[in-house]
Amino acid sequence: MEKYLKIIQESFSGYFNYLVQEITNPSWTNYFYWLIGLSLLVWTLEVLIPWRKNQGAFRKGFWLDSFYIVFNFFLFSLIGYNAISNVGVELFNDFLGLFGIENMVAINIQGLPVWSQLLIMFVIADFIQWNVHRQLHRIPQLWEFHKIHHSVKEMGFAAQFRFHFMETIIYKSVQYIPLAMIGFGIQEFFVIYMFSVFIGHLNHANVGWNYGILGYIFNNPKMHIWHHSKELPEAHPYGMNFGLSLSIWDYLFGSAYVPKNGKNIEIGFEGDEDFPEDFGSQVLFPFINRSKSTQKIK
Ligand SMILES: [Zn+2]
Ligand SMILES: [Zn+2]
Repeated sequence: MEKYLKIIQESFSGYFNYLVQEITNPSWTNYFYWLIGLSLLVWTLEVLIPWRKNQGAFRKGFWLDSFYIVFNFFLFSLIGYNAISNVGVELFNDFLGLFGIENMVAINIQGLPVWSQLLIMFVIADFIQWNVHRQLHRIPQLWEFHKIHHSVKEMGFAAQFRFHFMETIIYKSVQYIPLAMIGFGIQEFFVIYMFSVFIGHLNHANVGWNYGILGYIFNNPKMHIWHHSKELPEAHPYGMNFGLSLSIWDYLFGSAYVPKNGKNIEIGFEGDEDFPEDFGSQVLFPFINRSKSTQKIK
């Protein structure tokens, strides 16, 4: 027990020191400045070459989403995720230890060149995330959390980070075991992470791009807007275009759907008129709505 408390305490102070360090020491592998840089870059594109010309630079929800960026990127880790995940990993290893398992690496890819390790990790993680995202839409209890992301009514880059903190916990827990089996721990790989943040920003940006032929590999703004469509086609009652960084899974497994230019489609979800519009109520929403949601089918 003492061991776990110590981990919690060290996670908090460790993360706090790390954050101060990040802000005061700009470097080429600095999360803080890369996040700001990428956000400014994509925002500039929205201003210079807007897809929806009538949408302001400070669209509806801009400030709310900016707060979500700060919260989900930094504060949530600072407040608890770091501690929860460190304890989780330790508990899990102790649990494996009960069966005499010390190492769960099944396929060791550490011997491969770094670029191929990164590529393997990126593709596997993205495929797992695609599956998790589908479940967020299919399982009613999970959908209550995921509604926050779909409550965006005007799309802009910052919308990427409008999501409930439970999503971080769900995504990371599901990914943990498969990634650990090929020898990756909970640490993020800087390049992969920043690359996915960049693609995610663009997916939500007010920029009319689909990258041509590359759009069948990478998710893109013209495809992801359909994921946010309020009206769902009969063939896809739970939604479509579930890809995060890659669109290839949707094309492979038949969930891709881009019927026409989605520039001006209505985005949101059935019943979003009654969805709260401030951070506090949105975060509490799934917990309060839980009892009601169990019998309801989306
Ligand atoms: Zn979704
Ligand atoms: Zn989205």
